[in-house]
Amino acid sequence: MTNYLILGSGAAGISASQAIRKLDVQAEITLVSEERDGYYSRPGLAYLLSGEVSEGLLYPFSKADFQRLRFNLIHMQAKQILPEQHQVVFSDGRRLGYDRLLIATGARAVKPDLPGMALQGVVTLDSLEETRLILRLAHRGRLAIVAGGGITALELVEGLRARGVAVAYLLRGERYWPNVLDETESRIVEARLRHEGVRIYPHTELVEIQGKNGKVVGARTADGRQLRCELVGIAIGVAPRKELAEAAGLRVDKGILVDDRMQTSQADIYAAGDAAQVFDPSLGRAIIDSLWGPACLQGRTAGKNMAGGGDAYLKGAAFNVTRLAGLTTTIIGGVGDGSKDPNVIGIVRGDSEGWRQRPEGLVAQTSSEVNRLRLLLGERKVIGAVVMGDQTHSRTVHHLISRGVDIGAIREKMLQVGGALDMVLAEAANRLDEQGGRQHGA
Ligand SMILES: Cc1cc2nc3c(=O)[nH]c(=O)nc-3n(C[C@H](O)[C@H](O)[C@H](O)COP(=O)(O)OP(=O)(O)OC[C@H]3O[C@@H](n4cnc5c(N)ncnc54)[C@H](O)[C@@H]3O)c2cc1C
Repeated sequence: MTNYLILGSGAAGISASQAIRKLDVQAEITLVSEERDGYYSRPGLAYLLSGEVSEGLLYPFSKADFQRLRFNLIHMQAKQILPEQHQVVFSDGRRLGYDRLLIATGARAVKPDLPGMALQGVVTLDSLEETRLILRLAHRGRLAIVAGGGITALELVEGLRARGVAVAYLLRGERYWPNVLDETESRIVEARLRHEGVRIYPHTELVEIQGKNGKVVGARTADGRQLRCELVGIAIGVAPRKELAEAAGLRVDKGILVDDRMQTSQADIYAAGDAAQVFDPSLGRAIIDSLWGPACLQGRTAGKNMAGGGDAYLKGAAFNVTRLAGLTTTIIGGVGDGSKDPNVIGIVRGDSEGWRQRPEGLVAQTSSEVNRLRLLLGERKVIGAVVMGDQTHSRTVHHLISRGVDIGAIREKMLQVGGALDMVLAEAANRLDEQGGRQHGA
C-alpha cells in the first residue's frame, strides 16, 4: 500500500488527493493542514467579508465527503522535510513517513517591513481566521486605510465599506491596477469606488502605522500626510510558501520549481498550487499562477503522477472572473503587456460607442451603465481580453484565446472601425459550437 503525504489541504492538496484516490483505491492518503479550518474556499473570503455569504457556505466538502474519500485529515504544522529518510517532522515533534510527498502549502500575503505592522488592527485578507478577525474589528463608523493595487485590495475596500467602515484607499501609482487594466478601466473602477464613498489617494505610500496601547490609531504617508484610522488593510501581493522545500535542498526560485509532471528536483516529492512555479510554454519561462483554477489543475496533475498515472500539466490561458467595484469582470490571457507590442492591436467596445480601434485600446466611457469589452489582437490570434459588465461574449472570447483559434479569416472584419464585432464574435461562437458538437458527436 502506497503512503501519500500531502502538506496543505487547500485547492491543490485536495485536488491531488482526489486524483490519487481515483487511481489508487488502497492508498493511504494523509492531508496535513496547519489551519484548523481545513479545506475552504479562499476566494469566498471576500464574500464573507462583504456579508454576501455565511461561513458555512465556504466549505466545499462535508465530513462525510472526507470519510467517503478516506482522507486522513490532520491539523498540524510541517516543520521540516527529510528527503533522505522520506519523512516530515511536525511542530509537535512527531514524524510521518511517506512514499510520495506533495508540497501544497500555498502562498501567504506579503507584509511590508513598516513600523507598526504588529499593532492590533493591521490586517490582510488571507485566511478564514484572518477574515473573522477583520469582521470583529470592522464596526460601523470606524476608519480604515487600505493599501495595495490588485483584486484583494479592492475586496478589502469593498468588504469594509459594506460593513459601514469609512475607507481611505492608497494607491502607490497614478491609477488602479495599471499592469492589467487600461486607463479607462481603472477610471471606471475608481469612479464606482468614489460613488460608494471611498476616498482614493493616488501616488501615496504608507511609511508608518501608528499605535496607542498596542492598537492602530493612525498612519503616516511618504508625502507627509497624517491619516487617522483604527484599521489598516494590506494587500500588496502574495509570496509562495517555499521555505520547507528550500530548507530541504529542493530547487526553488520565486516558488518551488517543478517539471510538467509537477515533480520537484527531488524524486518522490511533488509541488502544486500557489507554492509551485511551473513552466509556461507560451512565455518560455516558469511562472507563479496564484489562482484557484490552476491550483486545482496542478493538484490533479501532481496526484495523477504521484499515483503513477503519467500526465503533463498544460497551462491554459489565464482566466479570472472577478468583481471590481461591483462590476463583473473577466480577464483572459495576456492583457498587461500586449499594448507595448507594436504587433498587437487593441480594440474596445464601450457602451453606446460602437467599436473603436486604438493602438492602446482606449475608448471614452459615456454611459453610466458599464459594458465594456477590450480585445488584444495579435496577427493571427486573440491574445487577451478584459470583459467588464455584460458577459455575453466572455465564453467565446475565452475559447478563441484558450484554443489559440486562428482568426486570420475574421481579423479584418474585427478591425473595421464601427464594424459589427458583436456579429463577428457571434459567428465565431457558432463555429466553435459546431466544431464542439461535431467533436462530441464523432
Ligand atoms: C481573499 C482571496 C481572494 C481570492 N480570490 C480569487 C479569485 O477570485 N479567483 C481565483 O482564481 N483565485 C482567487 N484567490 C486565490 C486562490 O484562493 C488560490 O490561488 C488558491 O487557494 C491556491 O490554492 P493552494 O491549494 O495552492 O493554496 P492554499 O489554498 O493557500 O492552501 C495551502 C494550505 O497549506 C497550509 N500550509 C502552509 N504551510 C503549511 C505547513 N508547513 N504545514 C501545514 N499546512 C501548511 C496553509 O495554511 C493552507 O491552508 C483568492 C485568494 C484570496 C486570499
